[in-house]
Amino acid sequence: MTHPQADTSPVKPVASEGAIGIYVHVPFCETKCPYCDFNTYAGVEQLIPAYVDAVCEEIDRWGNLLTGRSAATIFFGGGTPSYIPVRETACIVDRIGAAFPPADDAEITLEANPGDVTVSKAESWLRAGFNRVSMGVQSFDDGLLGTLGRRHDAAGARRSFELLREAGFENRSLDLMFGLPDQTLQQWQDSMTAALDLEPDHVSLYGLQLEAGTPLEADVRLGRITTPDEDLGADMYLAAEEAFADAGFRHYEISNWARPGFESRHNLIYWRNEPYLGIGPGAHSSLLGHRFADTRSPRWYMRSLGFEPGPSEDFPGIDTARPKRAPLPDSTPVPLRAMAENGPVDTVEETTLQLELADTMMMGLRLDTGVSDTDFQARFGRSLKDVFDLEIGELVDQGLLESDEHGIRLSDRGRLLGNEVFGRFVSAAHGI
Ligand code: SF4
Repeated sequence: MTHPQADTSPVKPVASEGAIGIYVHVPFCETKCPYCDFNTYAGVEQLIPAYVDAVCEEIDRWGNLLTGRSAATIFFGGGTPSYIPVRETACIVDRIGAAFPPADDAEITLEANPGDVTVSKAESWLRAGFNRVSMGVQSFDDGLLGTLGRRHDAAGARRSFELLREAGFENRSLDLMFGLPDQTLQQWQDSMTAALDLEPDHVSLYGLQLEAGTPLEADVRLGRITTPDEDLGADMYLAAEEAFADAGFRHYEISNWARPGFESRHNLIYWRNEPYLGIGPGAHSSLLGHRFADTRSPRWYMRSLGFEPGPSEDFPGIDTARPKRAPLPDSTPVPLRAMAENGPVDTVEETTLQLELADTMMMGLRLDTGVSDTDFQARFGRSLKDVFDLEIGELVDQGLLESDEHGIRLSDRGRLLGNEVFGRFVSAAHGI
């Protein structure tokens, strides 16, 4: 089978000087899927107004503390951002626009559940400023959607994805999952065909991770559901590489494929280890020479910003006591200290040389372009081989890495064993 020539042109830095990616965490879902361990809650819709007030307050405070910053990208994730009223998401986009004026072509993404999409909602999202939707479809097999506890069926997902195009969205992504209990290779191929028929601009394909403490993990552990077969999962990944290459997609990141020009600019900020600010309960940030995260508990998130979310019985399963914050590192800069001592920031870690090296390698190697020696030298003042000669040599010998004068990248085999490669670089970086 012939594949189109892969486009391996370098992925340019996304965040220019002063520009950052902004992530907004929406911790609400209509129902909780049995495999999900994200920081999200069902049945607490009454908290949405206080949550939106708190998010807007956090944006305003950061806007006052960080001068000269603009939004390169904005990403509403969760949770289910499409589940909360459009006027609330529009209000948050406006506040971000006032605090961090985005470029005219800024990518502004909303994660959506198929069950939430109507033409009128999609048109309202466009009017609010969103220009990209990422839809969690997961499968086009109704039986597997039932196993995953999803609230849509395959026909509904198809219709919702088409509605987005009819409403005017020109950048649509969808997520699929593979390696599911009892999923056959044929079912996976049928789901990929169904996805391609919808002409998405971008797809994210994730192998199921059984997360401890989730109902699905318990069902598998207790033998109520078949354990997913790892070898079959690897075959599914290889089948995806072939199917999406044949359809003209670039496999630009381990789990992501895009038509040329439709790579996720927001996620590229993470993979290139560029600065981003996370807003909302549990959201992580990398900025001001530090990694930090907001308190995970929605209750304490809202309270820390001056909003009383309501009585404790409104919070099934949500912390009632604010977790203790570890002492701030001495290096904590004034704006970050202010948001930790009188705001939602809970954990703060200085971005040491070791941490920056480890993250640059671990995230950069996820991309098809890998880690460029020029970029590495510009960032660290030394070449890749100066720092990681031993690891690069061994991993090339093992067939997991490719190396040339431009830099290093995972081999085909290395993509299947990415965690092994990342682990080598992370250990080496922390030993420096
Ligand atoms: S819709 Fe997404 S975020 Fe919400 S529970 Fe399901 S998997 Fe988790």
